[in-house]
Amino acid sequence: MIDLYYFNVLPLIYNYSNNLENLFILPVLVFLTLFTGLKTMLIEPQNTQSHNYQSKLNGKYPFDNILFYPKTICHTCKLEKPARSKHCSICNKCILLNDHHCIWMNNCIGKGNYLYFYGFLFGNISVTTYAFLRLLYVLLRSKALISNKPVLTLFILSGTFSVICISFTYMQLSLIKDGMTTNEKDKWFTIQEFMRNGRLVRTGAPQEDSTWFILDPDLDTQCLGSSETKYYSTNPYDHTVYTLSDFTKVESPKDIPNIYDFGSFWANLKDVCS
Ligand SMILES: [Zn+2]
Ligand SMILES: [Zn+2]
Repeated sequence: MIDLYYFNVLPLIYNYSNNLENLFILPVLVFLTLFTGLKTMLIEPQNTQSHNYQSKLNGKYPFDNILFYPKTICHTCKLEKPARSKHCSICNKCILLNDHHCIWMNNCIGKGNYLYFYGFLFGNISVTTYAFLRLLYVLLRSKALISNKPVLTLFILSGTFSVICISFTYMQLSLIKDGMTTNEKDKWFTIQEFMRNGRLVRTGAPQEDSTWFILDPDLDTQCLGSSETKYYSTNPYDHTVYTLSDFTKVESPKDIPNIYDFGSFWANLKDVCS
């Protein structure tokens, strides 16, 4: 898109542009996008094979005993999995604060490259939206350019990528607001699905001190009160069959605490980018 603009489109629309955008705004936006993209690609997120990763985390993410449990050993790395980590089969490492493996960056988005990843997303939004609006302005003033193939191609491409980038960034920022990564969003969805189906229970004091269990999937929810009923931990690594005498059925998402939500969008953003 950059070469299409500079070699094919700019000579045609030069009279409609000015030096401020040609010599400053666009070069700066393009440079920032390429720079943050390169950094996202090249910075290896912290992982359980990193030197000193535990002292860097310094107990920042305790185990919530809902999604993440202590003393869990990764089947592949054979190393203990810290809270909020996930094994990436492509990077072949357990990545800390793992969001997802980005196929465009060929790297995991995790602890260490979040800031550049968000910079890259905003860079892409700025460049594509700016190009789209600018070309729209030019096309409205010069009807002859509508039939020009490079101008029309760049107009359609920039508009399409702008919508894609804005939608994807919106989803990412929504997760930040909720204090969860893409990986955790899937886990929360599963937990809430058990709750919606009436299969999630907890024992112990409410909120952080609870222990969480799921009704045996082979049993009907009518069995919930029976003393013979089997339950499993929400920890997928724990295959113990539990019988519970005193428990509370969980009926609202508000009763399931997310200890990784630090209370506001900015607090969560600062946390993942630090
Ligand atoms: Zn692993
Ligand atoms: Zn990866």
